[in-house]
Amino acid sequence: DEDFEPIIKRRDLKRYKDKDLFETVEEVFDTKTVMTILYLMRKRIIRRMNGVISAGKEARVYLGFGWKNEPLAIKIYLTSSAVFKKGMLKYIIGDPRFEDFKPGDTRDIIYAWTRKEFRNLKRMYNIGVKVPRPITFKNNVLVMEFMGENNRRFPLLVEVYSHLSIDELKKVYEYILEELFKIVCKANLVHGDLSEYNVMVKPGPDIIIIDVSQAVHIDHPNSLEFLIRDIKNINRFFREEAGLNDIENVDEIIGVI
Ligand code: ATP
Ligand code: MN
Repeated sequence: DEDFEPIIKRRDLKRYKDKDLFETVEEVFDTKTVMTILYLMRKRIIRRMNGVISAGKEARVYLGFGWKNEPLAIKIYLTSSAVFKKGMLKYIIGDPRFEDFKPGDTRDIIYAWTRKEFRNLKRMYNIGVKVPRPITFKNNVLVMEFMGENNRRFPLLVEVYSHLSIDELKKVYEYILEELFKIVCKANLVHGDLSEYNVMVKPGPDIIIIDVSQAVHIDHPNSLEFLIRDIKNINRFFREEAGLNDIENVDEIIGVI
C-alpha cells in the first residue's frame, strides 16, 4: 500500500546506522561549532546548510547557500582529531606569519589552522591563482566559493583523468605548472600538498587548486623541500598514472622558479 509507506524505512535506518551517519554529525557539530555556524547565519554569510560534499578525517566540507542563494563550500575542521594536531604544527611553526603563535589549547591550533587556510587562499586568490574565492572564516569554519555546477562539485583530477584525452591531460599538466609558478613567484607560497587529490577539473578543461591549509611562505625553512615534493608528486602522477611522456624535469622547473 504505497500511500502508507513510512518516510523513513526500517532498512534505511539500518543503512544509516551502518554508515555511522549520526555519529559523524555528532562528531563535527559539537556545541561550539554549532554556535559558530549560528554566528555566520546571524551575520548573513550562510542562509542554510545542505549535505556533506566530503567527509575526511580532519575536515568536513558541506554545500551551503548564502543570502543571495549562491552556493557555498563550508569547510569545518574537526576539533576532536588529535592525531592531526601534531602534524599541523610543523607547518605553523617556522612560518614567519605565525611567529607569535603559542600552541596551548588544542582548539587554538585548529583555529590557527583554519585562519591559515583562509589567509593562504586569500593571498593566492588576490594574485590570480585559480582557487575558490575565500569568503570568510570563524573559529574552525571556513566559507568559500562553491566550485561546481548545478550544486555538484567539479570532479577531482584523480576522478576524471582516465576520461581525458592525451591533449587534455597535457593541458591540465601545463595549467598545474602555471598555477605552481604563480603560487611560488607571485604569492610567495608553497602549496605543500599538491596532488591529483587537490586539483579539480572543470569543463574546458580548466583547473582549480584546492586545500591550501598547509601552504607555507617561501621563507619557511622547509619550503624548498615541500616544493620539490609537490613537483615530484605531480610528475609521478602524470607519468605513471596518466601515462604522459613529456614531463618537465624537476630541476628545470625549480630553475625557472
Ligand atoms: P580530506 O581529509 O577529506 O582530504 P581535506 O582536508 O583534504 O579533506 P579539501 O581537500 O580542502 O579538504 O576538501 C575536501 C573535498 O571537498 C575536496 O576533495 C573536494 O571534493 C571538496 N571541496 C573542497 N573545496 C571545495 C569547493 N570550494 N567547492 C566544491 N567542493 C570543494
Ligand atoms: Mn584534500
